[in-house]
Amino acid sequence: MTDEISGRILRIAKGSIHDGDGLRTVVFLKGCPLRCAWCASPESQDAGYSHGYGQNMTAAEVFREIAKEEIFYFHSGGGLTISGGEPLMQADFSLALIRQCKKVGINTAIETSAYGDYSAIEKLLPYLDVIYADLKLMDEQQHIEQTGVSNKTILANIRRLAGEFRGKLRVRIPLVPSINMEDEQVMAAAEFCQSLERPGFSRLDFVEFLPYHKLGVDTYRKLGREFLLGGIMPPGKEAVEKAKRAFKETAPGIKLIH
Ligand code: SF4
Repeated sequence: MTDEISGRILRIAKGSIHDGDGLRTVVFLKGCPLRCAWCASPESQDAGYSHGYGQNMTAAEVFREIAKEEIFYFHSGGGLTISGGEPLMQADFSLALIRQCKKVGINTAIETSAYGDYSAIEKLLPYLDVIYADLKLMDEQQHIEQTGVSNKTILANIRRLAGEFRGKLRVRIPLVPSINMEDEQVMAAAEFCQSLERPGFSRLDFVEFLPYHKLGVDTYRKLGREFLLGGIMPPGKEAVEKAKRAFKETAPGIKLIH
């Protein structure tokens, strides 16, 4: 029975306004196949228990927590967001949660790196209202250096989602100084996003810039890990504006927010 399926949870955050429309309950799952140099939640990367992070819960238990906030979803247009780590690593558990939410009319979203078999994401599509997919670097070699994996699967999955997903597809681009903020890199990302669009029909709901921040640094210390971007400061307003200009010049038809 799908309600009894267990997931490995990092934490459940209620009342979030940063992970989708309205007020949301965000279920952070453990496990991510990427190792982004700028990752702000390194405690989510390991799929197992580590340093006290992680607990097993059944889909029914997690759904009970989600349902407690129902009144807030109703008034704010919010709902459930499954985040990570990487939700596709626990696709069956994610499916059980969003199916249950859809049954009772709760809005559903996932935040994904889009790295995984398309079959994993495909089975979620009928029950999802919103997908946030990350676009980190267009150059494959740089992507491997900065995240540990190739971007080929990610780009192919986003392209396929743009054609097949009937909900809202939103692309998020982390802006990390000295990693992906050169005009040429921003323009390559914009070109890719523009290539997903079709005349008279916008396949992307919007693209969102997420300027890098240093909130996860203390967690690296707790985990006994070195934070590799220690010397890099978050981008200033000017740098973000410059990236916005480069993006807008290349993809003028795409709604950009940050
Ligand atoms: S995809 Fe997200 S959770 Fe995974 S390593 Fe990168 S930033 Fe961290």
